[in-house]
Amino acid sequence: MKPRVYYSRQEMFKLNRDRLLERGVTIEDIAEIAFMQQARYNKNISMRVCIESVEKILSYRDIFHLVQLSIEIDRLAEEGGFRSPIQEIIRADLGMFGIDEVFGLTIAQLYGTIGQTNFGDIDVNKPGIVKRLNEDGKKGDCCHTFLDDVVGAIAAAASTRVAQIISEEEARKDPHFEPMQLPLEWKEEN
Ligand code: MG
Repeated sequence: MKPRVYYSRQEMFKLNRDRLLERGVTIEDIAEIAFMQQARYNKNISMRVCIESVEKILSYRDIFHLVQLSIEIDRLAEEGGFRSPIQEIIRADLGMFGIDEVFGLTIAQLYGTIGQTNFGDIDVNKPGIVKRLNEDGKKGDCCHTFLDDVVGAIAAAASTRVAQIISEEEARKDPHFEPMQLPLEWKEEN
């Protein structure tokens, strides 16, 4: 039988959710960062739209591959599965390594320039779960070299999506806004 390589959006979401949970990260943990970031600009955002955004992002194929690969790299590094010298470099979470940030930027890029600057903010200030992952990784029992960036980037993407939803709502409140008939597939957007 041919090995399975294609997964549906629902399956990818579930596989991501379960792998993240295995590593101690919940959807709420990620949504909380998105909420805190957006609450600085918008008074009336809800946790519900942040959670929904994280869930949607976790179902994208590119994100699926990055989340799954990142978690496996961290796990293998914990088990000493790489050869020297990259084993020690990943395990030490070397500041000058930078490939973990490349993964993060790739995820954040999905939501453009704002997504990337939002990721930069989270990467520098390490709110909530990102701080915990970073600290636990540095203590030595576990390796979170890739996970902290991936989680921070999903939060940044979700926060940017929330900002886009709010912008759309604002646009529709404008007296000049004229609704028009949209193609069916547009309704699934964001
Ligand atoms: Mg990192």
